[in-house]
Amino acid sequence: MNSALINLAYLAASVLFILGIKGLTHPRTAVRGNLYGASGMLLAIIATVASAEVFGSGVQGLGVILAGIVVGGGIGAAIALRIEMTAMPQMVALLNGFGGGASVFVAGAALFDAADPSTQMTVATVASGLIGGVTFFGSLVAFDKLQELVLPGKPIHFPGQQAVNSLIGLAALVVGYMIVDDPSATGLYWVLVALASVGGLLLTIPIGGADMPVAIALLNSYSGLAAASTGFVLNNNALIITGSLVGASGLILTRIMCKAMNRSLANVLTGAIGPEAVGGASADEVYAGKVKSSSPEEVAMLLDGARRVVIVPGYGLAVSQAQHAVCELADLLESKGTEVEFAIHPVAGRMPGHMNVLLAEADVAYDKLREMDDINPTFAQTDVAIVIGANDVVNPVANTDPTSPIAGMPILEVDKARTAVVIKRSLSPGFAGIPNPLFAADNTLMFFSDGKKAILDLITAIKEA
Ligand code: NDP
Repeated sequence: MNSALINLAYLAASVLFILGIKGLTHPRTAVRGNLYGASGMLLAIIATVASAEVFGSGVQGLGVILAGIVVGGGIGAAIALRIEMTAMPQMVALLNGFGGGASVFVAGAALFDAADPSTQMTVATVASGLIGGVTFFGSLVAFDKLQELVLPGKPIHFPGQQAVNSLIGLAALVVGYMIVDDPSATGLYWVLVALASVGGLLLTIPIGGADMPVAIALLNSYSGLAAASTGFVLNNNALIITGSLVGASGLILTRIMCKAMNRSLANVLTGAIGPEAVGGASADEVYAGKVKSSSPEEVAMLLDGARRVVIVPGYGLAVSQAQHAVCELADLLESKGTEVEFAIHPVAGRMPGHMNVLLAEADVAYDKLREMDDINPTFAQTDVAIVIGANDVVNPVANTDPTSPIAGMPILEVDKARTAVVIKRSLSPGFAGIPNPLFAADNTLMFFSDGKKAILDLITAIKEA
């Protein structure tokens, strides 16, 4: 295959990637978008394999590539089929990490193989090793923290942390310069990767609790940048374009998440995110003697007179798999003439778009899903807000306590509804680990139960009323 044809195939693949990302921006087009992306990747792989320039002795290379696809694809498919929806952020973290790790090895191998590497190649290899190493170990820490394996979920700090980080960054830059200056000193590449790996570890351990999704989005962007650098090492246009797309979209997602969680990007970049909870009222102070619990029958009576109901899903909806029951409840209420909408917070659940995916699975009409800025002004005209398994994203403390770990995070203003019904199993805190005064508010009724069971009981009570 000649190089013009290969580049044409890469161009077509890139267009498919862009269409894929565009498709993924809406649940209605997401499946098609995914298909575009996968087709683009297949086309790019075929073009790369066919490219004699890249794989000189085609047949040998092809065997290794096919074996890699079978083994890697098999492991990936097995994990993807078994992973719980609630563990998706960890999975994404791990995948980002593998992307970074792959860039480290591919770029390193190309440098070691090159007889007389150009400056472009050495600079790009240094960038791949540096960003890839940070991404790999940073992602492993993110995975570990979310999976709660070894490290605690809360931020880890030690004296002189920023100084140590700066020293490691400086040392990595010096070693990087030495590699560019004398590419034959290949052993230095591993020194660079080791420094980047320690850097990745140290940059991620101070991040804890509610800030981890921002870190994962950022690591996603890093994995794209590492891939793009490797594209410059190999002179592979498809890799440069794909890596840039991942890098840019990861950065845009990071910005969206920062806004949703009120963290500045500068703080994220310096690893200074994740303030520990200081002060703040204890659960006893917030709840004692003020919490009113309710029953399915009482909530059914309340809903009977409601003209407008807003359903606010959170992580507990995912845990209890209540999406189909909630859809049935919405249909039942609408059949009685009640207006029903769903309020979607950008970081409800454990991954961006978590609630959209679950509600789409239950065939809830897309036009019933309203985003936070859109629905907040309507809570004052809402008779009943039903909160199911959401906690941090409806916690008014975000607006009232500047020392809280979620201070400044925009929230769904459920407390403004005439009545809020909160379905959860206990008064346990959410991801950020803090009490929620909404549960003790005068206009709140707590409905203690598993999310799915509560909704099914509620449907029965409405039908029997
Ligand atoms: P929270 O984590 O704040 O709260 C979830 C609540 O669900 C808990 O209080 C729990 O209470 C309840 N719950 C758990 N299981 C069930 C069940 N079976 N039935 C009913 N309720 C249940 O969730 P939110 O969605 O409000 O907020 C998301 C949080 O996660 C934010 O802090 C966000 O920053 C963070 N995060 C978000 C990510 C994202 O990208 N979306 C990624 C990672 C973290 P109880 O145990 O009493 O039932």
